[in-house]
Amino acid sequence: MNQAPVQFDVAIIGGGVIGCSIAWRLAQANLRVVVIERGEVGREASWAAGGMLAPSAEANQADVFFELAAASRAMYAGFARELREVTGTDIEYRTEGTLYLALTDEDEEELERRWQWQRAAELNVKKLNADCVQKLEPILNPKLRWALKFPDDHQVDNRRLMTALESAARQVGVEFWTQTEATALEVSNSQISGVETNRRNVATKTVIVAAGSWSSLLRATTDEAVMDFSVAPVRGQMIALAMPEPALQHVVYSGKGYLVPRRSGHVIAGSTTETVGYNKEVTAEGIASIIERAIEIAPNLSKQSFSEMWAGLRPESKDGWPILGMDSRINGLVYATGHYRNGILLTPITAKAISELVLQGESSHNIEPFGTHRLA
Ligand SMILES: Cc1cc2nc3c(=O)[nH]c(=O)nc-3n(C[C@H](O)[C@H](O)[C@H](O)COP(=O)(O)OP(=O)(O)OC[C@H]3O[C@@H](n4cnc5c(N)ncnc54)[C@H](O)[C@@H]3O)c2cc1C
Repeated sequence: MNQAPVQFDVAIIGGGVIGCSIAWRLAQANLRVVVIERGEVGREASWAAGGMLAPSAEANQADVFFELAAASRAMYAGFARELREVTGTDIEYRTEGTLYLALTDEDEEELERRWQWQRAAELNVKKLNADCVQKLEPILNPKLRWALKFPDDHQVDNRRLMTALESAARQVGVEFWTQTEATALEVSNSQISGVETNRRNVATKTVIVAAGSWSSLLRATTDEAVMDFSVAPVRGQMIALAMPEPALQHVVYSGKGYLVPRRSGHVIAGSTTETVGYNKEVTAEGIASIIERAIEIAPNLSKQSFSEMWAGLRPESKDGWPILGMDSRINGLVYATGHYRNGILLTPITAKAISELVLQGESSHNIEPFGTHRLA
C-alpha cells in the first residue's frame, strides 16, 4: 500500500450503534471523523438485538451500573426526538413499559425479591394481579399468577435506530469506510498516531475502539501492549413471528425468555446465551428453546408463522460491564466497548460520555467505574 494515510481528527473502529453514535456527536462538534467498518454499517450485534431499554427488569441491585443504565434510559425520549428531527426516521421509541410474569414457584420467588429491593430503593415498580395483566395483554398465558410492571422500562426498534444513527452521522460529515478492516493500531512514544487497514491507512491522534465482540483482537504495530483485557462474544439467537395485527403492547419477560412487540405486528422472541466463539449460526436447539419459552408466555404464538431467525454476538467484558474511557498508558486511545446485553440501552449515554471525554478531557457522567483499571 503506497498511498499516503488520510488525516482525520478521530478514527472510530466499528460501525455499530456505539461507533456511529459517538461519531455523530463528535462530528456535530466539527471534528473530522472516520468510521472504519469491516462489513456493512450496523449489521452485527446492533442489528441482532431486541431493542429493550430495560434496566429495572434486569437489575439485581442499585449499583453504579444501574445508575448508568437508568441515566441512559432517561435520555432516550430526547435522543429519539433528535434523531427524528434530523433524519426523519422514527426509531419507534415506545413507553408502554415492561411486564415480568410469574408463571412458576421459582418465578414468584425471583419477582418477590425484585419487588422488595426496588420498592426499598423507591424505584418505579408495580405489582399486578393476574386479572389486571390479562386485561392489559389478553394473549398472555392464562396460567400466569401475577406480574411486576416496570413502567419506565421502554423499547426502541434497534434496526431503525441503527439506520437513523448512520444517516445522522453522514449528515454532519462523518466518513464511513465500509468493507475496511482495521488491522493494527499505530503507536509511537505512547501516543496513537494512526490506524492500519487492509485498504488505506488513517493518520490521527485519537482512536476509539468500538469494535464490539472483536475489540480485544486489535493489536498495535509496535510492541506496545494495547487492549490487555478481553471482550468475548456471547451468542444470542432470536426469532421473529409474523402477527396479522399488533396483538401485544408491552415488552414481556418470563424467567427464561422475552417477547418484544414491533409496530408492524411482528413479535420478536429471544434469546439464548451461548459461549461458542465467533459462531453466528442459528441452531435447531437454540430456536426450539426460544419457541418453547415464547409459547409458554403467549400460547397462541404457536399458530403464527416465522418471518425471520438470526443470531448475534454480545460483547462481554470480564465483569459484564462496559469498558469506557482512556487507555491508561497510550495517549489518544479510547475504549467504548463491552456493552454486552445493554448496548442499545447504553447508546445515548455512551455517545455523550465518550464525546465529552474526547472534546473536553472529562465526562459529565462519572464513567471512572467503567475504566480499564478494574480489568487489570
Ligand atoms: C440477540 C441479542 C439481543 C440483544 N438485545 C438487546 C436489547 O434488547 N437491549 C440492549 O440494550 N442490548 C441488546 N443486545 C446487546 C446489543 O446488541 C450490543 O450490546 C450492542 O449492539 C453493541 O454495539 P457495538 O456497536 O459495540 O457492537 P456491534 O454492533 O457488534 O458493532 C461492532 C462493529 O465493529 C466491526 N468491527 C469489528 N472489528 C473490526 C475491525 N478490526 N475493523 C473494522 N470493523 C470492525 C464489526 O463488523 C461490527 O459492525 C442484544 C444483543 C444480541 C446479540
